[in-house]
Amino acid sequence: MKKLVIANWKMAPQTVKEAQAIFAKIKSRAARLRGVETVIAPPFIYLPLLKSAGKIKLAAQDVAKDDGGPWTGEISARMLKGVGVSYAIIGHSERREIGEGDDVIREKLYQSLFRGLKSVLCVGEKEKSQEAFPHIVREQIKKALRGIPRYFASKTIIAYEPVWAISSHSKGKADTPQNFFEMSIFIRRTVLDVWGKSAALRLPIIYGGSVNAKNAKGFLEVKGGSGVLVGKASLDAREFNKILEIADTI
Ligand code: PEP
Repeated sequence: MKKLVIANWKMAPQTVKEAQAIFAKIKSRAARLRGVETVIAPPFIYLPLLKSAGKIKLAAQDVAKDDGGPWTGEISARMLKGVGVSYAIIGHSERREIGEGDDVIREKLYQSLFRGLKSVLCVGEKEKSQEAFPHIVREQIKKALRGIPRYFASKTIIAYEPVWAISSHSKGKADTPQNFFEMSIFIRRTVLDVWGKSAALRLPIIYGGSVNAKNAKGFLEVKGGSGVLVGKASLDAREFNKILEIADTI
């Protein structure tokens, strides 16, 4: 199975020129790798400009909860498909932080899956000290998957991203591969309750939160883990390319 390595560029870089330059460097490296699925999630506005993606797949950082209608500022999953996007990130903690709740996340996930996008559902607790954090993650998953047909399981990916480990919160300190391993088992059990055993066993689970070229190996080697979601380090093409190389060897 190929490792999945997703770059979440968030609201960066600030110019098209910079985006194209980073993209070009990653593209030429990714073209040589057989064992990695490389996915870049740039800001929406750059998606059509980076269209000739070659081996790299494009992801949206969000989708609208509806397919049509008067939603000022929103971008539908159908539009994204139309410009060559194949993945979408749904329910990122930075969107939850600005008020996106579980119901909206479920609707977005449904739209994204319905339109055939591979959908990366982000879950994770806010504080390291939260005692009931597995329960929080379980609730996020159950609420997001409620009512979503099991046949969409093959296009669903779960990203475990403890919010406290995301670089903007943690000053670059990641969670541990051991905790990711334990959480991946817990996440699989939760998915089993909703979608049953075969979906749960096949579901890719990836880790996100301060992944860089130094710590990526540990997370990529986790048994049952399928890859990593990389924020800050993905804007440095050299660093990100190193992560791709590591993933390719595992
Ligand atoms: C993220 O926000 O999805 C993320 C993984 O960020 P970082 O790698 O910067 O912690």
